[in-house]
Amino acid sequence: MTDQKAKMGHLEVVCGSMFSGKSEELIRRLRRAEIAQQKVLVFKHSLDNRKTIDYIVSHNGNKLKAFALSSATEILELVDDDVSVIGIDEVQFFSNEIVNTIHTLVNRGKRVIAAGLDLDFRGVPFGSIPLLMAIADSSTKLKAVCIKCGDNAHFTQRLINNQPAKYNDPVILVGAEEFYQARCRSCFVIDRSPAYNYERI
Ligand SMILES: [Zn+2]
Repeated sequence: MTDQKAKMGHLEVVCGSMFSGKSEELIRRLRRAEIAQQKVLVFKHSLDNRKTIDYIVSHNGNKLKAFALSSATEILELVDDDVSVIGIDEVQFFSNEIVNTIHTLVNRGKRVIAAGLDLDFRGVPFGSIPLLMAIADSSTKLKAVCIKCGDNAHFTQRLINNQPAKYNDPVILVGAEEFYQARCRSCFVIDRSPAYNYERI
């Protein structure tokens, strides 16, 4: 064996509830890489089938230009050899193929920073986030502030017409007024607990 090891990258996961500052933290890490003269590419999910240029925006108004894509594999087509750092925001919206995509990028020597919601409004782990947290080199779980009591919050409360959403409410409700709040475990309201059994969720 020679003492030359393949240069591997690494994966950092930044997760938390809504309003926990995930995008802000992602932008902070990416800006530091840019200051260090590293080439950075940023991606987010387009939520439709268009491939566009968009921005990732934090709640305090910071923003970074990003490619909005609908498929994880498109990321591989856009990352050249000279790219060192890849940021992915709202990673939970990509299909589970994103895990293989990120694994490939890390094995190609890239530093990947993936930010996303760890739990959905029911308190169920969101999309590929559990897998990504498990294979990450580091994972950071950010807390928001509970809007009811001021404690640390890691749940996202969904409210429909000002009432807590029910576990089985559809994701899209036409004509309903809905919004989200950060809440602690005590103040989070849902009509039933998740079973944490992936056959049944
Ligand atoms: Zn609370």
